[in-house]
This record gives sequence, structure tokens and C-alpha cells, in this order.
Amino acid sequence: MRKTAITLAALLGAGLVSTLAAPGKVEHKETPMLPGQPWHVHDMNRPVPRVVTPGATFSHGAPAPSDAVVLFNGTDLSKWKSDKGEAGWKVENGYMEVVKKSGSISTKDEFGDFQLHLEFATPAKVEGNSQGRGNSGVFIFGKYEVQVLDSYDNPTYPDGQCGALYGQCPPLATAVKKPGEWQSYDIIFEAPKWDDAGKLVNRANVTVILNGVVMHHHKEYIGETKHGEVGTYGKPQSRGTIELQDHGNPMRFRNIWIRNLGEYDKP
Ligand code: MG
Repeated sequence: MRKTAITLAALLGAGLVSTLAAPGKVEHKETPMLPGQPWHVHDMNRPVPRVVTPGATFSHGAPAPSDAVVLFNGTDLSKWKSDKGEAGWKVENGYMEVVKKSGSISTKDEFGDFQLHLEFATPAKVEGNSQGRGNSGVFIFGKYEVQVLDSYDNPTYPDGQCGALYGQCPPLATAVKKPGEWQSYDIIFEAPKWDDAGKLVNRANVTVILNGVVMHHHKEYIGETKHGEVGTYGKPQSRGTIELQDHGNPMRFRNIWIRNLGEYDKP
């Protein structure tokens, strides 16, 4: 026992502890470094965001403003589609629910800079762990993910937590509700901008509020969302769909609306 402790201490001193995988944890040292950060993609050694207990409600049940496009009011999926054509998720009791293997769904309409409101619930019956537990995501333009995950007492890599810009940046806090409880997301997104020559001049950025707690404020995406890789920006695209991810878990969504941000001095 004593010998083991000395060995570990020696490794710590030699700076080699990062090569050790903690029991039950996945090491991601094989992934590339994130540009401008001292962390690998999905780095388990990255600090875990502090836990904040959100208030009972924030924007839960928020009615849509007059200029919003209502994407889901609890009755039908007429504003949504999938790769297979019609959106194949279940609708009941005012919410939609992921039907496993029916695929992710995306809006039929495209949007640019926007304010999005949606509510979600992870399964009340907890199954799986880490990224296999209550996983979905809001994929802006189908490319830039704001992670949806059951992060209630569910260790995983910090840049994969609920509220993370998946694989790029953990949220500022962990502010999830218990499995099965409704949670609110308010997401403000500014699309990436390219010049006439097709050169990227502004990265996409996002402000995210989960259950009344700020996850990100004007945080830039490094590039498109990737698993285990560093994403880059592809072809110029300043408008796109909003996609909800089928990650194999029976996630629920309700009350989804979106409004274009508009521009100052352009009523
Ligand atoms: Mg996801």
C-alpha cells in the first residue's frame, strides 16, 4: 500500500499523472489540443463547473412574443422535418419526445441571428451514464451544438456537460434540474460572418441561459461541433436550420419559439 502511494507521488512530481486514467473515467489524452486553451478536446482533467441550484422557474412556460415564430406549441411537428422526410418523434401531452433511431429533427425554416426559447426534460427513469444518459442537443445550423444532457450527478468530461459548447467549452456552471423536471433554455446566437471573398470575419457566438443561470455570454465557437476533434468553419453560411439531436435517449421538448434579433436603427 505504502509502496503504491510513493509511486503515485513520484509520478505526480514528474508531471506524469495526466497519463493515468482515474478509475471509471475515460481519458482523452489522445484527442488534439483545443486552440488557445491548455486542454485537450474532452479533457477529463479540465475543472468541473461548479454546481448551482437553479430557481424553481425562470422562463418556463414563457409565452411567445408577437414577432416570434412558434416552432412547437405542443400539438404537432408541422414546422419540423428529418432526413427521412417527416419528423418521426412522438407528440403527446404537450411535448415532443425523441423516438430512438428516428433521427434528429430540424426546422423547415432557416434563421440567422436569433433568440431561441425551448424547454426540455431528461428521462425521469435514469439509464446509462456519462454521455449515454439523457443526451440530446441543440444544433444551430446543424453545426454548432449547445449540449443537452442529464448532468444531474452524472460525471462526464466537462466540455460535454449540459450547457457546454460540446467539445469546445464547458458551461460557466452546472445548473441542471433533476431527471424528469422541465428545464428552460434561452439561447441568443449570432451567426458567423464572411466577407464577399468568402473569408471568415466574425466567428459564430452564443449566449446561453439554462434555468435562469448564464452558461455562456457571447462565447465564440472555435468551429463546427465535432466529437474528439477540433472543428473548423466550413463554407460561408449565415442562415440555417435549428436541429434537435436524437442521441438514442427519450428526451422531451416543449414550448419552442424563435425570433430574429433584428438590427439597431433598422425597425
Ligand atoms: Mg448532444
